[in-house]
Amino acid sequence: MASTRNRLKHDVASETQASDLSARINLCQTITDALSASRKVLTEHQENLTFNDPTIEAKIFIEYAFEKTSMQLITQSGELLCEDGKKKLISTLSKRIYGYPVAYIVGFQPFWTLNLRVSEHTLIPRSDSEIVVETAIGLPLSKDANVLDLGTGTGAIALAIKSERSHWIVSGCDFKEEIIELARANASLNSLNVEFVLSNWFSGITATQAFDLIVSNPPYVESNSIWLNQGDVRFEPDSALTSGIDGLDDIRHIISKGTEYLKSGGYLLLEHGHQQANVIQQLLLQQGYQEVTTKQDLNGLDRATLGRWLV
Ligand code: GLN
Repeated sequence: MASTRNRLKHDVASETQASDLSARINLCQTITDALSASRKVLTEHQENLTFNDPTIEAKIFIEYAFEKTSMQLITQSGELLCEDGKKKLISTLSKRIYGYPVAYIVGFQPFWTLNLRVSEHTLIPRSDSEIVVETAIGLPLSKDANVLDLGTGTGAIALAIKSERSHWIVSGCDFKEEIIELARANASLNSLNVEFVLSNWFSGITATQAFDLIVSNPPYVESNSIWLNQGDVRFEPDSALTSGIDGLDDIRHIISKGTEYLKSGGYLLLEHGHQQANVIQQLLLQQGYQEVTTKQDLNGLDRATLGRWLV
């Protein structure tokens, strides 16, 4: 399975597919033509593109390739296409029909009310994680609460929390310099004051018993899950997705180590797989956390579990 994922990572469309694609896009004269040709190409390859909508993706790629707003796609629909834009569209579609995620192609993904830069070093933010933000901002924390987002990736959860609770002191950490740079870029892009530090889980966090809330969307997929062979996840880093055979290695570590970093009365809030709620509740209770509850995501699936450290 690992080899399938690697092969996908380094490949793009085959040569025949690429020349057919170039011919079809080069025949287009206007934005309307390009929209319709792109939609057709994406529809033909839909089986490799889990969860895509060819009409929406065609619009996103034309906006990206020709540097247009969605309004301009309508008002300039008859405008003649420039050669550079066509080249960019061909290269974009050739990556996409091989399954490469839209967010990695255009370099951005919306999350909460924010627009975030993404890179192959991190997971693409998902709407599943919005329940983590919603639960966090609903907690009765003090005005100057200290909040830590462990394994922050793009910074999505930390930045969304800060955007809603500007008086909280929010920081985030992750284990690679490239990720920290990305999260910092997202903080400045969205004008949010969140500090991002290099730390492999708690290894670089010196302040013990300091946090009112620790949140995390850690890797939680089982290492041999068939889910890893479908759609966007084929191109996302294993380090952000999988965590041992039951997917719980990192969650176990965070639950046990979290007790040293939480203030008394502080909360630990974890995103997890939709079938992991029971086991995570048990792990939290065994460790001595109280007020343990699970929240559902937008699809009604168990997605985040909260515990309170009251020792
Ligand atoms: N929710 C993600 C997925 O199923 C996994 C994210 C994670 O492991 N944190 O693709």
